[in-house]
Amino acid sequence: MILPKSNRLTPEQLTEITAIVGEFGCKIQPIVGAVRTIYAIVGDERDELMINRLEGLPYVDRIDRIQSPFKLMDKRSDLASHRIKCGGVTLGEELFVIAGACTIDPKNPNYFYETAAAVKEAGAHVLRGGVWKPRTNPYSFQGDVKSLDVLMEASRRTGLPVDTEVMEEAHIKLALDAGVHSLQIGARNALNYSLLRSVGRAIAERDTVVLLKRSINMGPLSEFITAAEYIAAFGNPNVILCPRGTTPTLDGYRNHPDESITPLLKEKTWAPVVVDPSHSVGKAIYVPACALAAVAYGADGLCIESHVSPSHGIGDDPKQAVTPDVLATTIKQAKQLWAIRRG
Ligand code: PEP
Ligand code: MN
Repeated sequence: MILPKSNRLTPEQLTEITAIVGEFGCKIQPIVGAVRTIYAIVGDERDELMINRLEGLPYVDRIDRIQSPFKLMDKRSDLASHRIKCGGVTLGEELFVIAGACTIDPKNPNYFYETAAAVKEAGAHVLRGGVWKPRTNPYSFQGDVKSLDVLMEASRRTGLPVDTEVMEEAHIKLALDAGVHSLQIGARNALNYSLLRSVGRAIAERDTVVLLKRSINMGPLSEFITAAEYIAAFGNPNVILCPRGTTPTLDGYRNHPDESITPLLKEKTWAPVVVDPSHSVGKAIYVPACALAAVAYGADGLCIESHVSPSHGIGDDPKQAVTPDVLATTIKQAKQLWAIRRG
């Protein structure tokens, strides 16, 4: 929709914009109001070159796009009836839970094996475990490819599919070859379009799922959805959106919990939303409340860090991992809330 600076275009201006949109296979339909006339672009109005040309005209105030920038992830797209299945759950049909350690300690794998069995017992559908870790400090433990064997062994022992973060192309190949079922794109890489493209390409022919975290640097929600669109555009729309807290504004929480964006996301996209309460609040004692708030706000699932002995964990586990007992209670209460929400 073209909104001119004046109340209506002159005949010369109308001829000019008609010629421009015509180059892109579109037509102009004036919509005449009592005071103002606006000009609808009839046809596919998404072409950036056309929009740039129109926005560059001195008499054009702005162009309002009616068509969605997300062709595949939009709630009104043909894919809106697509359902993602993972860990035996069809997302949207029952509460979906990913749980496990932040970081696998390759030197003490038994903690992870015990954690895997315990999170399964608590009701998790997918086991998470960090193999490669994005750490703020280059001298902190960065992960270890040996942990990939531990992750897959835990998957064999429990029968649970596994989720792990990939940060570069080499990780994607290693993880997929090993049989990782859910690739996590972390908050730091959610705006790394080249990685998003690589993940999209790599999973095109698979039933792999992507857990896409929300970057703290994402502004409008459309940036989150278009990041998912990057992945889906290569042929696999199994992308789950994962709010995980945004820039900290409260003393006390690690991040500012952003579970309240779920209903806003759901107005725009059909993609399931699985909230990560662990990174949102960053302290184990606050995780259950944040998890329940997420379900109250309409989340399809939760991604929770849990460890059998948090103080023996590495990465985020000592501070924010909940014990399997707490996890079990949280899942139970979250399921009750889910049932209440469903009425
Ligand atoms: C994680 O899941 O351990 C992690 C690093 O998450 P985020 O990318 O949300 O910080
Ligand atoms: Mn973590």
